[in-house]
Amino acid sequence: MASPIAYCLICSRTTSSKYCEHHHKSYGKLASEYETWKRALGKMSWEDYLRKLLELQETSSSIKDVIEKELGIP
Ligand SMILES: [Zn+2]
Repeated sequence: MASPIAYCLICSRTTSSKYCEHHHKSYGKLASEYETWKRALGKMSWEDYLRKLLELQETSSSIKDVIEKELGIP
């Protein structure tokens, strides 16, 4: 079965989707945390949420990599 070879948008690992397994996991974490934040704080846009997390010291660097990619920060 041939699967198209692509590279993660963040690192050089090969993947069959946008992000490699490692960064996809970080993205999944971000998405599920977003639901928690929205429940706690009410209305909050995806972008505001990402920018907020980027400012937090405790946000891990692999998650920050995903955030920067999502926000289009080079
Ligand atoms: Zn990656």
